[in-house]
Formats: sequence, structure tokens, C-alpha cells
Amino acid sequence: MFVGKGKNIMKKLVGFLISCSLLVSCTSSSVEVKSEVENSPISIVTTTGMIGDLLDILLPEEFKVTRLMKAGVDPHYYKATQGDLVLMQKADLIVYNGLHLEGKMTEIFEKLSRRKKVLAVTGALPENRLRKTSEFATGIDPHVWFDVALWSTICEDVAKELVVYYPNWAVKIEENKNRYIDELSALNSEIIVALSSIPQERRVLLTAHDAFAYFGRAYDIDVRGLQGISTSTEYGIKDIEDAVDLIIEKEIKAVFVESSVSPKALQAVVEKCNSKGHDLVIGGELFSDSMGEENTKEGTYIGMLRHNVETIVTALK
Ligand SMILES: [Zn+2]
Repeated sequence: MFVGKGKNIMKKLVGFLISCSLLVSCTSSSVEVKSEVENSPISIVTTTGMIGDLLDILLPEEFKVTRLMKAGVDPHYYKATQGDLVLMQKADLIVYNGLHLEGKMTEIFEKLSRRKKVLAVTGALPENRLRKTSEFATGIDPHVWFDVALWSTICEDVAKELVVYYPNWAVKIEENKNRYIDELSALNSEIIVALSSIPQERRVLLTAHDAFAYFGRAYDIDVRGLQGISTSTEYGIKDIEDAVDLIIEKEIKAVFVESSVSPKALQAVVEKCNSKGHDLVIGGELFSDSMGEENTKEGTYIGMLRHNVETIVTALK
């Protein structure tokens, strides 16, 4: 009953904020207000850091990109705060992942998209490049950013949309896109070379939740997640036992914690393996659904991928 009530309040708040913005846009016709608006940057709001980084790279300095989900935040659980709603209402464009990654925000995006520019970065991806899975409500795995070639396609798709929204900056956006596509292509080759140093039989990546399946598909790694594809599915004793059996059978040396998921389950796996005489360590922390802090190397998409690959290679080779 309480949940229903909270949902109603949220619905009313979204409606209220939409009405407020309409009121402001209807009355702010004075020249003074207009020139102030013209001088301030165009505000873009993104959900995840990965999308924020992409928009920062594609757009010129006349734009200001704000990421709603800070470092360490789990997008599967994230609920928009009142401050987020205000930010989104004021933004010129809202960009999100889609495929139900931001599961608790779907309704808000639907509502806002009736009056504002709202873009899902995965919206134009061809179906045959998406990973189907029965573990996620939509039947499709939303963690698309871990296949660099797929992210590169997303970069093309997003740039195309941005050029439509902001034709005055088309040349700059195109330039930025072309440069970044080259960087992503180099990153992709770098990852393939780095991972090739792990022998085939040790190419097993066991993490807290199933965020790395696209990574596994792209780079030929057997990926296992303790918790399934969304962090909202709980792990059970059987999941732990299955993981322990697999680790002992495949002689896996390390498992990996994720920056946005509790390490509890993996610690239980390590303890159980060690008690059975199999040496297993936590190989390090991977960034899965959230990047590192803004303005650090790991706070960029390329830096995050490099950190993950380095951590995986060091622990498994
Ligand atoms: Zn996830």
C-alpha cells in the first residue's frame, strides 16, 4: 500500500513539474530573460556515467552535460530524486540507456518524452546485435557498453540524433564523433591483444552480477554472474555452491567484485573455495554498471574498459 502511495506522489510530482515548465516557457518572453538563456550552456541530462562521458565527447563546449547517477550507483535500483526531476525538467535533452537498465525510471521517461527531447541510446540498435536473455524482464540484456564495437555503433546513432537536434553544431559533432570512433577502434584492438595473454582454459570471468555477457561474447570469455543479470535478483545458497563447483573444476584463480554491487556473495564463494583447499582470491574490482569518479581516468569509458581489462588479465593469466 505504501509503495502505491509513493508512486502516486511521484506521478503527481512529475505532472506538477511539467506544468511548471510550461508556465515558465509561456511567460518568459522578455528580452532580458531571452539573452540570459542564450548565453547559458544548453543543458543535457544523462542517467549513467558512460552516457555522460559519450555526450561530453560528442558535444562542443556550449553544452553542459550532467550525469544523474554518480560513481558506484546501481542503475537497476536507482530512483530519481526530486532534484533529478527538476534537472530533467529544465534540461533541453535527456539521454538514457534504455532496454530497462534504468528499471525504476521508465515511467518518468515516458511522461517526459511527451513534451521534451528524450533519447534512449540503444533505441536504434538492430535487434540481431542485442543479447537475448530470459533473465531480464524485457528479454534483452541491457549492458551493451561492454562490447566496444556495439558502443561505437551507439556513438554513431547518438551523433546522428544530436545533429538533428542541434544542426548549428553539426560540423563539430561530426568531427568529435569521427575522432572518437577511431579511438574506440584502437581500444577494441588493444583489448583483444591484452586478453590474448590469458590461456583459453582460464578465460572464465566470474563476477557478482551478470553485467559482462556482451564483453564475453565480444572477446571470447566464459562469463558467469552469481546474481543473474539484474542486481535485483537475489542469489541463493545453490548459486554459491554452483559457483564453487565450477571454480574448482576449471581451476579458476580469481573472481571479481564490482564497484556498484555488494561484494558479500563473492566473499562467501572465496571462503567456501578456500575451506575446500582451493586457493581463490578476489582478483580486484571491476567497473560494471557504473564508472569511476568523474575527472579520473576510470571515470571515462575508455579508462574504465582499460582498468577492467588490466585487472582481469593480471588476475587470470
Ligand atoms: Zn547490471
